[in-house]
Amino acid sequence: MTSFTRRFGDVLLGTDPKQRLRISRSLTAASVYLICVALMGYACLTGFMAWREAAELSAAILLNVMIWYAILRSGLNKRFADPALTLPQIMAALTVISGAYAITGPVHGSTMMLLALVLVFGIFNMRARDARLAGGYTVLIMGGVIAWKVRSEPEYYPLRLEVAHFVLVAAIVPTISSLAAQLSSLRAKLQAQKEELSVALQRIQILATRDELTGLYNRRHMLEVLTQHQKRLERTGHHRFCLALLDIDHFKRINDTHGHGVGDEVLRGFAQVAESVLRETDVLARWGGEEFLVLLNDTQTNQANIGLERLRDLLARTALVPNMPELKPTFSAGLTAYDTSEPLHVCIERADQALYRAKAAGRNRTEVTQPPETSPQPRKVMG
Ligand code: GH3
Ligand code: MG
Ligand code: MG
Repeated sequence: MTSFTRRFGDVLLGTDPKQRLRISRSLTAASVYLICVALMGYACLTGFMAWREAAELSAAILLNVMIWYAILRSGLNKRFADPALTLPQIMAALTVISGAYAITGPVHGSTMMLLALVLVFGIFNMRARDARLAGGYTVLIMGGVIAWKVRSEPEYYPLRLEVAHFVLVAAIVPTISSLAAQLSSLRAKLQAQKEELSVALQRIQILATRDELTGLYNRRHMLEVLTQHQKRLERTGHHRFCLALLDIDHFKRINDTHGHGVGDEVLRGFAQVAESVLRETDVLARWGGEEFLVLLNDTQTNQANIGLERLRDLLARTALVPNMPELKPTFSAGLTAYDTSEPLHVCIERADQALYRAKAAGRNRTEVTQPPETSPQPRKVMG
């Protein structure tokens, strides 16, 4: 598209995509009016219609097109429940065509086709009730016009022919209306299905990334998060991170003594406390059973360790299960820094070995370990 046509399109239709669609639909429908005008021209040329009447009806048609264009282009239509204003536009078109039927004399039969055409325009976006209303209106107004013309101009509107015309209108128009109504309920069903699907999709996304018990990220999603951080570090050389593997001490005992339900509550409580104490940029995931993996961003092990100690302090002061204040589980942790470009599983394995050592050294402590390549920092054992 050249920039001129694009600019012309913007001036004619505006830039809001929804409004553009409504305006261009209205203008396409206006082409039906053009056929009406052409028919009247033909009726005038063949001497069956007076130029004056034709000019008056053409002016009414043009005014109708311009009014709808002005309403849509100014955005006035957005104040209505149906901003496309389908029903009023269709009613106006039907009225204009009935007028054309009344003044096109011997060629009036051809205008009947236009009635059907107008209703077809509405088929795709009219509601069921509106479609029936438009159908009923067409039969009524055409019945009135036919009765009037049979009396006033029987030479062009002979009764026998007009009875046939009316029967045609009364048979075809309601058929189109009922088709429009069926399509409308089909659209409503599809819309409802679409909404159900999007709710289901959201649920699936939650299930795929979250652990159901604690609401934390699950192992699979955590691996994706870790890969993203690894790539970012490789690309930018910034945002170094640490990994800590946390395991609740003697958790099996809690299950055995108080039951699985209490064990579950402890896991949920542990997740909440840990989330509340960690920095917003840190990421916590349930790695499995009673193990949690923490990604500590933009930090070195000594700073990361301070965060873990904050968690240890808060846990010692918090009742994870409200009616069991004496139940104060501790955790052991293995903490390590991620070394640029090492495979993730190597780093996780190093944290796991540190965790193992923390357990062996008596639990309720953090064992810190550095990647083999970096200059070793003094090992810190907290208890
Ligand atoms: P340690 O201090 O050495 O870590 O001992 P521990 O008892 O915590 O470790 P162990 O691996 O022996 O036991 C972990 C228990 O966690 C065993 C398992 O039944 C329990 N567990 C795993 N997942 C869940 C869960 O979702 N809910 C509950 N209630 N228990 C779980
Ligand atoms: Mg444990
Ligand atoms: Mg364990």
